[in-house]
Amino acid sequence: MRRPLIAGNWKLHKTEEETRQFAAALLPHLGDESMPEVMIAPVFTALAAAREAFAGSPVQLGAQNCYPEAAGAFTGEVSAPLLRAAGCRYVIIGHSERRQYFQESDAFIRRKLLAAMEADLQPILCLGESLAQREAGETEKVLGQQLAGALEGFSSMMTGRLTLAYEPIWAIGTGRTASPEQAQNSHAFLRGWLSSNFDPATAEGMRLLYGGSVKPGNVAALMSQQDIDGALVGGASLDADDFLQLIRFRDR
Ligand code: PEP
Repeated sequence: MRRPLIAGNWKLHKTEEETRQFAAALLPHLGDESMPEVMIAPVFTALAAAREAFAGSPVQLGAQNCYPEAAGAFTGEVSAPLLRAAGCRYVIIGHSERRQYFQESDAFIRRKLLAAMEADLQPILCLGESLAQREAGETEKVLGQQLAGALEGFSSMMTGRLTLAYEPIWAIGTGRTASPEQAQNSHAFLRGWLSSNFDPATAEGMRLLYGGSVKPGNVAALMSQQDIDGALVGGASLDADDFLQLIRFRDR
């Protein structure tokens, strides 16, 4: 019922030329009907090249961030309507690197979600606990707070286009993946929270991605979990061969 999504977050990597090379290496291998949905979020400067290189392919375009206002005196920012016009279908919001390095609060993230929805983008809201919070047994408390802050005042209808990405901070870019059971437990908590705070249909319908050192070698075990509906992938999405193997997680 929930179509899996394999999403690549390129972070601060790849020029336009490197984007074209990646597409040339990946696209000849795609096209199978049973594929999951696939998304790549390049840096803003490579969006135009990616739009052209992935045109007509199953790869959808995403952005890594957006600003909550549509236009105005906000030097250096990019808005959701501009991303939509640049061909994006998705936008990643609240990534832990943005929370950590750019002090993004849940309230600010909420405004970005609203802006993305208003611009007809599909937001991927990232959530996750730090190592200290996990070790203190606070994982569920943190996830509940992040959800409550980001989705305050949202209706079930508004959440229809939303995807969540559970990304434990201690597993991002560290090579240390949450075990399938750890990830499943957090995903089950998220789905339970959605069911209690919205309704069971909203909870059942929403895709929950796992992110944190997903690689060809661990993707199948993670994807076999009941409440894991896809992956948000950093490092392994930069290599066309690795990314192809993630897209083909069913064969692994
Ligand atoms: C990410 O950037 O969201 C991520 C999960 O990175 P990595 O796969 O490299 O851990």
